[in-house]
Amino acid sequence: MEWSISLGRIAGTEVRIHLTFFLLIVWFAVSAGARGGQAAAIEAVVFLLAVFACVLAHEYGHVLTARYYGIGTRDITLLPIGGVASIERMPENPKQELLIALAGPAVNVVIAFVLFTIFGARLDPERIAAAVEDQRIDFTTRLALVNVMLVLFNLIPAFPMDGGRVLRALLSYRLGRARATRIAAGIGQAVAFGLGFLGLFGNPLLLFIALFVFLAARHESYAVELGEATKGAATRQATITSFAKLDTQATVGQAVEMLLATTQREFPVTDGGGRLRGVLTSDGMIRALAATGPDTPVLDVMERDVATVNSHAPLSEAVAVLQESGRALVGIVDDDGRVSGIITLENLAEYMMVDVARRGWRRQADQT
Ligand SMILES: [Zn+2]
Repeated sequence: MEWSISLGRIAGTEVRIHLTFFLLIVWFAVSAGARGGQAAAIEAVVFLLAVFACVLAHEYGHVLTARYYGIGTRDITLLPIGGVASIERMPENPKQELLIALAGPAVNVVIAFVLFTIFGARLDPERIAAAVEDQRIDFTTRLALVNVMLVLFNLIPAFPMDGGRVLRALLSYRLGRARATRIAAGIGQAVAFGLGFLGLFGNPLLLFIALFVFLAARHESYAVELGEATKGAATRQATITSFAKLDTQATVGQAVEMLLATTQREFPVTDGGGRLRGVLTSDGMIRALAATGPDTPVLDVMERDVATVNSHAPLSEAVAVLQESGRALVGIVDDDGRVSGIITLENLAEYMMVDVARRGWRRQADQT
């Protein structure tokens, strides 16, 4: 994640902290200091750090359970609104997903239980709402309450909260993963809308959380649908085979003519042997046209090192290569290394729409 620094590795996973988190520390210290002086400011910062230790422990609940099922985690990032563990993939087995999702909140249940039973935290229902910020209430009680809130907040049944994953896993048993994801993501977006609405009238932090939840739900839904649509498909089914390309002698002026004559936005540059040498995007072309004029050779301004995938590979492999590369397209090559087609992100979106329509039509045909 950008704007974050590494705190080092704990139990084999890198822990990062987002720079905005330091703003939160300063804000806590200043507002507590204004009320109760230096001692209060220090206490407030120590409390905040204890809270984030609990958040970190929560994330390790997920990370270690995922590792038990052979799934790694790139890193854990602590943000002012909580922690995010970049677990490489979610298992398709609903039981495993359920256990990974529940392991995080379970850690906070254990912490709260220990604080209440051993360290003398006391539950006073009348003052729960004010308790966390009220420094007259003792440290352990507040920390225990924070852990209870972490459990409740994370079990809201909306992506990307753990409750959303629990819901998806439970629905997957009966409905299959794709439909379960659509339903869970839909609920997530509805919850995000509700949070955003509350945020408009009260706590502005809710607006940020709402946006975060909304985008995460959409991302999750897209990722699963893409996985579902490409499962078992061959690369050639989503390959653009009719496309314009530039040769290595071409100039930016010629490329611009091609841009206007076609609907393409990315143009493969191939040499005499039909091998992919690079890609010229419409943005790159326009920049070069403005900077160095129409006679600039495309070789000077194209993007190099574009990934290629063999046309016999499964489509899922081409998708993985495309997503990993961060580029707009991946070249599809035959056994001799000659470019036979391209796959772009736009094309994948079209392929998904076709796939959904085809499934719908088949379901209808089955029913009649
Ligand atoms: Zn969690």
